[in-house]
Amino acid sequence: MPVETNNKSQIKPPKMRQFGGSFLILLTLLLLLNFIVPSFFGPQSPQVPYSTFIAQVEAGQVDRAIVGGDRIQYSLHSQTPDGKPSEQVFVTTPVAIDLDLPRILREHNVEFAAPPPNQNGWISTLISWIAPPLIFFGIWGFLMSRQAGGPAALTVGKSKARIYSEGSTGVKFTDVAGVDEAKAELEEIVDFLKNAGKYTNLGAKIPKGALLVGPPGTGKTLLAKAIAGEAGVPFFSISGSEFIELFVGVGAARVRDLFEQAKQQAPCIVFIDELDALGKSRGGAGGFIGGNDEREQTLNQLLTEMDGFDANTGVIIIAATNRPEVLDPALRRPGRFDRQVVVDRPDKIGREAILKVHARNVKLAEDVNLGTIAIRTPGFAGADLANLVNEAALLAARQNRQAVTMADFNEAIERLVAGLEKRSRVLNETEKKTVAYHEVGHAIIGALMPGAGKVEKISVVPRGVGALGYTIQMPEEDRFLMVEDEIRGRIAILLGGRSAEEIIFGKVSTGASDDIQKATDLAERAITLYGMSDKLGPVAFEKSQQQFIEGYSNPRRAISPKVAEEIDREVKLTVDNAHHIALSILQYNRDLLEQTAEELLQKEILEGSQLREHLNQAKAPDEMAEWLRTGKLSEDKPLLQTLLV
Ligand code: ADP
Ligand code: MG
Ligand code: ZN
Repeated sequence: MPVETNNKSQIKPPKMRQFGGSFLILLTLLLLLNFIVPSFFGPQSPQVPYSTFIAQVEAGQVDRAIVGGDRIQYSLHSQTPDGKPSEQVFVTTPVAIDLDLPRILREHNVEFAAPPPNQNGWISTLISWIAPPLIFFGIWGFLMSRQAGGPAALTVGKSKARIYSEGSTGVKFTDVAGVDEAKAELEEIVDFLKNAGKYTNLGAKIPKGALLVGPPGTGKTLLAKAIAGEAGVPFFSISGSEFIELFVGVGAARVRDLFEQAKQQAPCIVFIDELDALGKSRGGAGGFIGGNDEREQTLNQLLTEMDGFDANTGVIIIAATNRPEVLDPALRRPGRFDRQVVVDRPDKIGREAILKVHARNVKLAEDVNLGTIAIRTPGFAGADLANLVNEAALLAARQNRQAVTMADFNEAIERLVAGLEKRSRVLNETEKKTVAYHEVGHAIIGALMPGAGKVEKISVVPRGVGALGYTIQMPEEDRFLMVEDEIRGRIAILLGGRSAEEIIFGKVSTGASDDIQKATDLAERAITLYGMSDKLGPVAFEKSQQQFIEGYSNPRRAISPKVAEEIDREVKLTVDNAHHIALSILQYNRDLLEQTAEELLQKEILEGSQLREHLNQAKAPDEMAEWLRTGKLSEDKPLLQTLLV
């Protein structure tokens, strides 16, 4: 694990706490003193009403008085039994400034004087000058000491970048697999960091930044750590979202701080994860709430900093994003993130390599073939594969096995694809029968359609959030393009479940809603994005995401109502034709459908050779080939309604 010191802010707080604490104590003492001192030194004299005092003066009883502005002390003539004058002193508070008082006192022969200057005065004066600043500093110190672990109200502007000190990311290039092109490009950066002289002597400028682009979980963060690990340089890492703060201007201050730190530690790597959180196009959609200012300022600061330092200082900025299309074009300009490294989902060979990396510390049984697992996991990213190996190991451990077997891997794949088995969800007989026919419907059509892969397994054991049964189809190879007949085939497969229900039960259940959704989406995309409709031609009716984000409000092009109607009609025709073919295929293979469904009901799961025996008997009706080629049905073919009896 990297040593993460939250530099600066974590070192200071203990000092601040002492500082604040001692000031607080001092402050309290001084305040107490201020209240206590006068009452200690002042005599404890009985308090009498002012009227009584005046009455005593006029009665000639008062001997002497000390007259202050808000306090009068006096003593009486009256003598104690042994003849000495009374030492008893009384205190009264004058009602207002009584201008007659000196005259009255003189008339009654009272000896009077003003009070001597206050001995405690200098202390009060001192306190009245010192206390307010002390209170201020006390509260300040108190807050500073609190924020060490608490809300960062006062850390504004301090970079949260963590330092992974030399080599301590612990990640090497050998830990990253299946992304060879990206690795090759990044190895070059490692060389820049290690042997900068070789390049600068020739007058070459070392690139300032590289942008890692790729879907989530493909190993972008891992690659950045590997660069630091290989080059053995400090690694500053911060996530784009951490720059965005409540207060406008804070993010910009952070960027400044981050670069300052980095320049002091050069050569080093600054890694900005999830750059899209910060680098979204300025002034794009979403600005209507007015919350964009902070992000814009932060982004501007980043651009300024990237321009501001000299190319050969040895600071290399690596950023990662899975949404390159939303990045501000200014970020991608040469001189900033001038190198873009694509980190894509791995292909079959790559997946096998990644599996090998993660299986290094896992005990594998003899029968485990990582190559086969790689074939069965198209579309899995590195993170998915890491998760897969771990799931399989957990399964094996739960069964108290000595090593992880192929069966564990297969179960783990299914878990990741379809969710956990839910045998607790009990279906009644009719429901189970409906599900069985539905799944066999998918499977038979799946077996006949091109490019859809082999049907591997059908099951009526509920899984995951909503699936009551499922059919697993595994592609035999990685596919990057879909041809139009494959799209048609896929739509027909999706509708196969519902079509089987129609044929066998004469009515449909709610279980096909997801299939229908997917089929319709696919048909719509074929027409509005891929230009596969003869009528509408190769015209895009949807905007790609990038155009959408750069300030247009609607995802569709502005189209006339007539064209919209045409699109709707074409989508419906595509789906209807596929539905027709699905019905037609199942009608044609009706016996096979019933046999297979009965067996599935008994065994709950059909897979491997058992399943293949059944599906190999599936036969394609004549019209299928023609439909796959053109998407059209011949005019004289019976329509859906005739099949729907
Ligand atoms: P990203 O940043 O692209 O979203 P990460 O780098 O965070 O993905 O990957 C998450 C985890 O998945 C890694 O820690 C690693 O265990 C695993 N992983 C992802 N890609 C790879 C790869 N190419 N090789 C080995 N492991 C990988
Ligand atoms: Mg990441
Ligand atoms: Zn279905």
